[in-house]
Amino acid sequence: MRILLVEDDRHLGESLHRALQLAHYACDWIGDGDQVLAALVATHFDLLVLDIGLPGRSGLELLRDIRSRHIRIPVLLLTARDSVEDKVKGLDGGADDYLTKPFDLDELYARIRMLLRRDNDHDQNEPQCGNIRLDCKAREVFRDDRLVELTATEIAILEALMRGGGHYVSTKRLEDSIYSWGREVESNTVQVYISRLRKHLGNDAIENKRGVGYRMLT
Ligand code: CA
Repeated sequence: MRILLVEDDRHLGESLHRALQLAHYACDWIGDGDQVLAALVATHFDLLVLDIGLPGRSGLELLRDIRSRHIRIPVLLLTARDSVEDKVKGLDGGADDYLTKPFDLDELYARIRMLLRRDNDHDQNEPQCGNIRLDCKAREVFRDDRLVELTATEIAILEALMRGGGHYVSTKRLEDSIYSWGREVESNTVQVYISRLRKHLGNDAIENKRGVGYRMLT
């Protein structure tokens, strides 16, 4: 799952960025509100964590733009003050939830999990495809109820596939799920991970359609 973090405070931005990566999210961090819309259009993100108090365009203005362009992404607002007015404006403007600074990392994680869960239709905390089950919270994969040893990146690819619900997921989308900006993407990276996953989960667990993408066989 990939998160876009927008926070202009360098210290807070850095520590949140690190914390989200440690929690196994692919996370990109922007300190400038003006880049947000372009980022959301270019890359698939599963969640936006948006500070209200930004230099230039405020988080609330950005939120209005995002919703008026019908960009469908869960938004968690960060607000500096415990201001009822900001919260009301935020929720009215299309935010899904908010956190008042300072907050506990555990609370941030819990809100994020809830928003990601809410955004996915059914029992997505433990998606299952055939004999393969993923425990999203524990980051564990089971094949026929037996634990399979996978790396964090392999699990991220598998999660994106399983959340595809039997539909084809494009290579670009799979790349988005594992890479942060600025990291070199080799053209065959996804292919390499898919073949590793097939080795662990069975050759026929993942189907490939040339030029379209990959999907889980259910
Ligand atoms: Ca700020």
